[in-house]
Amino acid sequence: MIIQPKTRGFICTTAHPEGCARQVQRQVEYVQAKPKVNGPRNVLVVGASTGYGLASRIVSTFAAGANSIGVYFDKAAEGNRTASAGWYNSAAFEEAAEQAGVKSYSIVGDAFSDDIKARTIDLIRTELGSIDLLVYSVASPRRTHPKTEEVFSSVIKPIGDTYVNKTVNFHNGEVTEATIEPATEDEIRQTVAVMGGEDWQMWIDALQAAGVLADNATTVAYSYIGPQITHAVYWDGTIGKAKNDLEETAKRLNAQLGTKGGRAFISVNKALVTQSSAAIPVVPLYISVLYKVMKEHGIHEGCIEQMYRLFSERLYIDGPTPLDNEGRIRIDDLEMRPEIQAEVASLWEQLTTEQIDELSDLVSYRKEFYQLFGFETDGIDYDADIDPVVDIPNLR
Ligand code: NAD
Repeated sequence: MIIQPKTRGFICTTAHPEGCARQVQRQVEYVQAKPKVNGPRNVLVVGASTGYGLASRIVSTFAAGANSIGVYFDKAAEGNRTASAGWYNSAAFEEAAEQAGVKSYSIVGDAFSDDIKARTIDLIRTELGSIDLLVYSVASPRRTHPKTEEVFSSVIKPIGDTYVNKTVNFHNGEVTEATIEPATEDEIRQTVAVMGGEDWQMWIDALQAAGVLADNATTVAYSYIGPQITHAVYWDGTIGKAKNDLEETAKRLNAQLGTKGGRAFISVNKALVTQSSAAIPVVPLYISVLYKVMKEHGIHEGCIEQMYRLFSERLYIDGPTPLDNEGRIRIDDLEMRPEIQAEVASLWEQLTTEQIDELSDLVSYRKEFYQLFGFETDGIDYDADIDPVVDIPNLR
């Protein structure tokens, strides 16, 4: 099969196995070239197949030598449909882990369900004994509640007032005005149910009850705050409410785990091109401008650079983890530097369709978007006929 990108809005419905494998290899090589981290031994990453979760798993394995279980929601190839990018990423990751002599297993299914939690716990018990790090990196548009079976949908909307700001169609560079009506109370409730902390708490409770969480375990979940430009649609909007709930959960979990020497953190990460961030209005345009400014200042980072810094300079250091006044880890520190944000804000004011390539790095945004699905990757022959069926070595 010859695999080309097929996009529908901010989604690409095809993925290229060799391109995804090459992208994973690039991240592995980045970490292998860095100093080792005296980090976790046995890691569970929930939401492990793409973006920040995948990078966390790669750092755990290749910087700390940790065994890992990845839980994720991805699809195998079927008929004339390719597998999803996360499937191909995970197959490549597991192969690399095996070559490095480190254990790694995959569980594919709905992390919100009791069944997947039970299967993961069984696997920990038989293969790892216990875990000492849980990374919670799920980004999902929907959640079925495991007890009530209510299906929640998350929305990206402002709260209170209608939000109007610039946005871009990143395929053709057209800058238009996005108008987003405020969320209803029920939409806020549903977004918190999907992207808030309830499921993270359920994972910790289940792991503890089963006796497979080590006494001194660490857990971390990811958040984003960002600048004024995106506040109305992000931090002050529905998703921000969910992130507040995640933060409250972190405080509760920190107290719960703290009695046995464990720790729970929120890490506020940088804005990056991932499948989830592509879906948020205004954010792709902001990221394009941010990339330009951070590259000009020589401080640009992707998922793997961020996660290596999280592990080596925040989570696994001698002494306490540095936190902000609200008790959060900040690895969005470079993004949020006042001089970076001042330049972004000034470029933002001037942005038009005509000047998009001059005032932003939309070219890189678009390229990275395609790379998420294994396209536009150097050294891959996209005209070659390849088999879309790829097995994940240790799928359970
Ligand atoms: P992503 O879309 O790249 O990854 C999401 C992961 O969740 C994938 O592995 C997917 O398979 C998994 N997943 C989704 N639904 C699932 C389900 N029901 N069961 C099991 N797995 C499921 O997203 P990302 O951007 O890496 O986001 C991860 C976290 O990082 C989120 O909390 C997000 O808010 C946060 N974050 C993202 C950014 C950014 O700019 N992308 C910035 C800061 C923080």
